[in-house]
Amino acid sequence: MELSIIWMYHDLMDLYGDRGNIEVLKYRCKKRGIKLQVDTCGIGEEKDLSAYDILFIGGGADREQGLLYQDLLGRKQAIQKAMNAGTFILLICGGYQFFGQYYIDGDGRQIEGLGFFEYFTKAPDRARRCIGNIAVECSLDGESFLAVGFENHGGQTIGVQTPLGKVIKGHGNQFQSSWEGFYNGQVLGTYMHGPLLPKNPEIADLILRKGLYRRYGKVDLEPLDDALETKARNVMLARMQIQK
Ligand code: GLN
Repeated sequence: MELSIIWMYHDLMDLYGDRGNIEVLKYRCKKRGIKLQVDTCGIGEEKDLSAYDILFIGGGADREQGLLYQDLLGRKQAIQKAMNAGTFILLICGGYQFFGQYYIDGDGRQIEGLGFFEYFTKAPDRARRCIGNIAVECSLDGESFLAVGFENHGGQTIGVQTPLGKVIKGHGNQFQSSWEGFYNGQVLGTYMHGPLLPKNPEIADLILRKGLYRRYGKVDLEPLDDALETKARNVMLARMQIQK
């Protein structure tokens, strides 16, 4: 089997090891004999986004978001076309904010979003941020598990209709909020860096299954030995004083 990923703004949107998500997808494909092609797309580069099975945007600081948002807005139709063609979309933090209505940073500067979803993001000021480890109870496509990550964002995301999960520890979409991220079956947005996928293999495999679905329909993935991943997650859960 074959799979392809378009990694957008790889050179600008890559906070707290977000590129590790790509490494995990590569590793899990290799273990299963799936041929994975990873292409990047920077500002001004011409790429047919709808040709890819998975589209990924990592997190970025306000400066980087300001540098690229016009390029991204210029790709709105191309992203819509990709969604229509069944491309699965993974968005971390700043990338997640872009798919909503707008983002207002801590200095009051507003960046227009792609507006695909109703949510919007606003940072109250420069001083207060949601920082620290986070644990989120997820139930995705019938599979329930506890996801862990690290968050560091000023933006407070309001109006998410379909969150990724329930916050057990940490902040999530807003200060001390009950809910984290966004998931609608095709787009997964989250504040979890860490990066996300190394300690949450359930999410990594969900993304691979979704990507493969676009080409092959329903595919059962061969299980992998996730002992190390589970151990890493358990260390974080213990630090957060959460019983598994
Ligand atoms: N600049 C955004 C914020 O502070 C996103 C940060 C990030 O991607 N970690 O909310």
